Amino acid sequence: MAGLSARRRSVGVNVGGVIVGGSAPVVVQSMTNTDTADIDATVRQVMQLARAGSELVRITVDRDEAAAAVPHIRYRLDSMGYPVPLIGDFHYIGHKLLADHPACAQALAKYRINPGNVGFKAKRDTQFATLIELAMRYDKPVRIGVNWGSLDEELLTRLMDENAVSPNPISAAAVQREAIIQSALLSAQRAEELGMSRDKIILSTKVSDVQHLIAVYEDLAARCDYALHLGLTEAGMGSKGIVASSAALGILMQQGIGDTIRISLTPEPGGDRTREVIVAQELLQTMGFRQFLPVVAACPGCGRTTSQTFQVLAKEIQDHLSSSMPEWRERYPGVETLSVAVMGCIVNGPGESKHANIGISLPGTGETPAAPVFIDGEKVATLRGADVAEQFKVMVANYIEKKFGHGQKSAAE
Ligand code: SF4
Repeated sequence: MAGLSARRRSVGVNVGGVIVGGSAPVVVQSMTNTDTADIDATVRQVMQLARAGSELVRITVDRDEAAAAVPHIRYRLDSMGYPVPLIGDFHYIGHKLLADHPACAQALAKYRINPGNVGFKAKRDTQFATLIELAMRYDKPVRIGVNWGSLDEELLTRLMDENAVSPNPISAAAVQREAIIQSALLSAQRAEELGMSRDKIILSTKVSDVQHLIAVYEDLAARCDYALHLGLTEAGMGSKGIVASSAALGILMQQGIGDTIRISLTPEPGGDRTREVIVAQELLQTMGFRQFLPVVAACPGCGRTTSQTFQVLAKEIQDHLSSSMPEWRERYPGVETLSVAVMGCIVNGPGESKHANIGISLPGTGETPAAPVFIDGEKVATLRGADVAEQFKVMVANYIEKKFGHGQKSAAE
């Protein structure tokens, strides 16, 4: 299996104690959608994202009130035991906000700079230089984050003009990709000329089309060793956003490309922002790159079972494991490696259950109403009665306590 050993070599960057790139595992990050000036709402959402497992959280810093709120947000999070590093997202006036709000500059763990809107014409170079100099003064890394929605128009126009008179012109889409990559690489080069070291620079080149995203990152990855932040921008809502992001990021990560990821999902109205963290974790776990949550294997069901017992039980166990993880990470070290199987009938039930740490094979239609339970490959019990689901949940809880609790012993004892 292509795994971490196949990762592209990149320079590791320390973001407030979290290493991005180098030999570190791929880092999950997310972004708030609160008004950063609303300290209560932002603290609340950062805590939710951190509890869900976000290892870095980005917040918008778009005006003086937001910049002034940042140190208070940092203080509140620290005092409540949430050290998750905060990244400031700056556009247009980042140079001014960071200069005018030193406590904000200090409280943030990284600054995100978009070279497409850091300033225009002559001001672009001086404002970009100011941002880099401020980052160096506060010893903070930066992400130079290019987005095709705010691409440097001067650079794009120049490359389009050059392409138009080239004897071997390339497609307009390829020119656009080249402009995105050059914007990132030229900005990084400029940052290094200003004195920033390579281990303070992360790059991203986000687009909203899956094929373009794959092409642009493959090219970028081959042309530099900076740590890379991956994300499909404007991925969309619901299953469309999840599938598009997973397809694009999965293909790139399988090639070893990507040191930190964000799944940019549009929440449903009133939806939960933590969804983007869960999807990122599930993607990394599904691909075998990281382990965040116990796995519950459940069969899809078919005509051999007419009851929904196994679906209900699988869902209840998955929900219980997911909701317990914030507490269990401390209490049961290693519990994220647990695997549970909930199967619908005898066809694959016993086999799949034997492969899990603990598994149950429920009776299908016409089968004897008995549910064998397997622990670490051995059949340990046969459950009967109307409360089979409850009995199994107790067995799962006992297994976790024995295997991952203090004074662990053989869970089959
Ligand atoms: S395990 Fe049984 S119920 Fe589940 S999908 Fe396979 S045959 Fe159908």
